[in-house]
Amino acid sequence: MITPVLPTYNRAPMAFVRGEGSWLWAEDGRRYLDLGAGIAVNALGHANPALVAALTEQAGKLWHVSNLYRIPEQEKLAEALVAKTFADTVFFTNSGTEAAELAIKMARKYHYEKGQPDRVEIITFEGAFHGRSTGAIAAAGSEKMVKGFGPLMPGFRQLKWADHEAIRAAITDKTCAVLIEPVQGEGGIRIVPDQCLKGLRDLCDSTGTLLIFDEVQCGMGRSGKLFAHEWSGIAPDIMMVAKGIGGGFPLGAVLATENAASGMVAGTHGSTYGGNPLACAVGAKVMEIVADEAFLAEVNRKAALFRQGLESLIASHPALFEAVRGEGLILGLKCKAPNTDIVKAGYDVGLLTVPAADNVIRLLPALNIPDADIASALTLLDQAATRVEAA
Ligand SMILES: *Cc1c(COP(=O)(O)O)cnc(C)c1O
Repeated sequence: MITPVLPTYNRAPMAFVRGEGSWLWAEDGRRYLDLGAGIAVNALGHANPALVAALTEQAGKLWHVSNLYRIPEQEKLAEALVAKTFADTVFFTNSGTEAAELAIKMARKYHYEKGQPDRVEIITFEGAFHGRSTGAIAAAGSEKMVKGFGPLMPGFRQLKWADHEAIRAAITDKTCAVLIEPVQGEGGIRIVPDQCLKGLRDLCDSTGTLLIFDEVQCGMGRSGKLFAHEWSGIAPDIMMVAKGIGGGFPLGAVLATENAASGMVAGTHGSTYGGNPLACAVGAKVMEIVADEAFLAEVNRKAALFRQGLESLIASHPALFEAVRGEGLILGLKCKAPNTDIVKAGYDVGLLTVPAADNVIRLLPALNIPDADIASALTLLDQAATRVEAA
């Protein structure tokens, strides 16, 4: 018999009732160290006092009014994002998927308004993940996500991941945009090399193609920069953001240059909830904390500490682990044993990690994880590994 909750997930049996910083407590009283952070969402840990205050203060004033009116909290967050990024303008959504939908619409509308309505094809990559809407699954194109859901939205072309020659060959007078995650999350924490992002930028510039970055998972401080593409020194025309931007409250955004957004005039897009006062009050507080240079320096210091410990872990368990990948606090352990076995052993010892494709375990802790919790994480990972070896 079907469960009251639609059974589209293979859920672990734990149910959490309370969280504090990097720790979660389950119904049965057991404590877990959370290296998943709700899949890179709880950027500042659970029940962060500054975010609780921002949320409760706004909750007592005003939750929702719709985008029929000016929303000062939304304007404040948009101004902060514009001030700290390549972008000139921002549209707020409730999720990464909705950000993907707008990014696709914006790119197509751009060429339409420039008198090139045939430029509709969007180049994407194997292993990509952009969400679960019909557009986003068509964009990523993976068999697992699209099977049975056709006909798919046309106009996407998947290439081998970050193969520059293939991209060069694929761009035609029908190409609208290239859509890529600077660091693939679901795909197994794969970083697109800096020179590759630079090459992509040049290629897009010389062909009039828009460059769209999906920073839903790798953005908002996770890479050690506010946005991961900053490491490469180049910028996109359009960027999707979500997950960490709300610190746990549902919030997403599309950031764009004035030129890329030029087709999106009044009436061309909308959202009932997107950018509501409650979400934006929390988002503005997250932004204030994370966009600070000293905070980002701490993310990088913690990342170096964690990474060093992970290298020792790999050295102690050479039959289980192959390498550590990623940058900042979007890290992946490439496994030799099945990654899901190690994730399950983690549950047994009180540790939460997230599996990804390519037999990788994702480590996505809160960006403010205390050093002592990094030490605990390494101890628990060692215990989980020892259990898998003994099994
Ligand atoms: C999670 C994710 C999405 C989809 O975000 P939702 O909020 O689940 O809709 C899109 N792109 C990337 C890279 C993601 O990690």
